Amino acid sequence: MSDCLFCKIAAGEIPAKTIYEDDDVIAFHDIHPAAPVHFLLVPKTHLDSLAHAQTQHQPLLGKMMLLTSKLAAEQGLSDGYRTIINTGHGGGQTFFHLHMHIIGGKTLSTNIS
Ligand code: ADP
Repeated sequence: MSDCLFCKIAAGEIPAKTIYEDDDVIAFHDIHPAAPVHFLLVPKTHLDSLAHAQTQHQPLLGKMMLLTSKLAAEQGLSDGYRTIINTGHGGGQTFFHLHMHIIGGKTLSTNIS
């Protein structure tokens, strides 16, 4: 996906404040943080959204879910954090490469809308 921002960040073509990277995923600070800590966890392979995931992506998605607690702890989110995956226009997604928001560092509203 030559025009995909997150593919370019994953390929190292566009700089980001990276906090974690391996063969499958990259995590970096959100450029417009919604909380004191706000980073994105992104698969390196291009998937438009969670709705585009297939059975073959199950290990990748599981890895992402499990990584959130390790990365959150490393970012000092000892009191908890929120994970968000916006999916599709109706779900508030604006960048169409699957990504998980990890947010914390303040008391978050219980209102999820
Ligand atoms: P929304 O923009 O409504 O949060 P998304 O779920 O698609 O929708 O989130 C895209 C996120 O990507 C936004 O939080 C935005 O601030 C972030 N972002 C955009 N460009 C960059 C960038 N170059 N580096 C880091 N984060 C970015």
